[in-house]
Amino acid sequence: MERKGILLVVSGFSGAGKGTLMKNLVETYDNYALSISMTTRKPREGEEEGKAYFFVEEEEFLQKIKEEKVIEYAQYCGHYYGTPREYVEEMLYRGKDVILEIEIQGALKVKKQFPDALLLFIMPPSAEELKRRLVGRGTETEQVIKQRLLRAVEESEGIEEYDYILINDRLEDCVEELNNLVMAAHSTPARNQEFINNIRKELKSLSKGE
Ligand code: ADP
Ligand code: 5GP
Repeated sequence: MERKGILLVVSGFSGAGKGTLMKNLVETYDNYALSISMTTRKPREGEEEGKAYFFVEEEEFLQKIKEEKVIEYAQYCGHYYGTPREYVEEMLYRGKDVILEIEIQGALKVKKQFPDALLLFIMPPSAEELKRRLVGRGTETEQVIKQRLLRAVEESEGIEEYDYILINDRLEDCVEELNNLVMAAHSTPARNQEFINNIRKELKSLSKGE
């Protein structure tokens, strides 16, 4: 039976550890493909073009939207972020589980377009620990950290829209749990409709003695 890829949408407050988790996940298991987003925000130190993001100017971003080359996009703390369409469609077609690490507005748009998508929300063990991680990462100014914590308050209102929450306490445990959820999702009837229909058909002819 052909393996159908799952579209995996991963959100969570800034600093919860999404980036770290996704890196670990794709290094540990080979069934995942991580979508690289486009953004108008400037690269952080160490972020490489085409690895962390495709860094573009606003004009180019808006042009891609016009050309329908993004699946979804949103604004986050003053910058645009969007998911390029081609890579996602290609990897799903190849049977990969495709990860979109995106914020909540984008996640809800994807859910509408792809009702079979699996939506996961990564939580820190506590709000205190979230702030510690965000400050400890050392990539944002105090003012941006403030903005991101305010945004987290808003995002926390939407968590019930997701299929599962995952608490990123011990990194390795969280990676394993995440993979377990995806493996379980592969076994739902809705994601195996073709197989089920075939067995039904075969059973019918078998029972008629054909
Ligand atoms: P996000 O992508 O959600 O904004 P990051 O992956 O950049 O978050 O992680 C934020 C900070 O927290 C980083 O410095 C990272 O090393 C750290 N971190 C991530 N996961 C854990 C964890 N399970 N325990 C402790 N620190 C973590
Ligand atoms: P950061 O600036 O920390 O890399 O990302 C800020 C937020 O934008 C995070 O919540 C991240 O998940 C989200 N994000 C990254 N790429 C995309 C995207 O393509 N679309 C949407 N909607 N959000 C994104």
